[in-house]
Amino acid sequence: MTTQIRHHLTDDLLMAYSAGSLPEAFSLVVASHVSMCDECRARLAGFDAVGGSVMEAMEVADMSEEAFGATLALIAANEDAEPAPAPRTGLFPAPLRDWIGGDVDTIVWRGVGGGVSQAVIQTRGPETVRLLRIPGGTAVPDHGHGGTELTMVLQGAFRDETDRFAAGDVECADEDMTHTPVAEPGPDCICLAATDSRLQFTGLLPRIAGRIMGI
Ligand code: ZN
Ligand code: ZN
Repeated sequence: MTTQIRHHLTDDLLMAYSAGSLPEAFSLVVASHVSMCDECRARLAGFDAVGGSVMEAMEVADMSEEAFGATLALIAANEDAEPAPAPRTGLFPAPLRDWIGGDVDTIVWRGVGGGVSQAVIQTRGPETVRLLRIPGGTAVPDHGHGGTELTMVLQGAFRDETDRFAAGDVECADEDMTHTPVAEPGPDCICLAATDSRLQFTGLLPRIAGRIMGI
């Protein structure tokens, strides 16, 4: 699974997650990807170590050579401090399954038009994280973003104007981007998507769909 992941988290997201400053909705997507991706887990461990050493350095303002050496040793020891991923028994990565308290079979889907369904996941803060289920061959209506949208594919695959995204991949779309994700033919494409503002659909029909979807 890990070797097939082609689209990864940005340093900004990993740093914010490491610092604990990422909203819950986005943290859920980051934790889910990290649990499946050796590369991002290693980069996160690096940010964790740097953050820890900065804290250490602040505590020991006048650091002796000995203390400095000890800090470096601590950083080295911390390098694989990120827990190894729990085995994946169902569809959902462990952090998502733990958050929801179940796997995909416990999800209550709500149709939002065009065969697309969603389930909003409870998190604190004004951001939203939802599961989206898009039947194979179906498009999610054209939309721009009032903010950032972070999407992780859990099953199936989709394409948009930029690339192809398959299970484990993440796409980070910013406010300048309007795209039309289309699920590939085959099994339903199931995604976990966090947004920090309401999505803005651009066409008339999509805009109506957007109102119905409440996204
Ligand atoms: Zn990754
Ligand atoms: Zn989008």
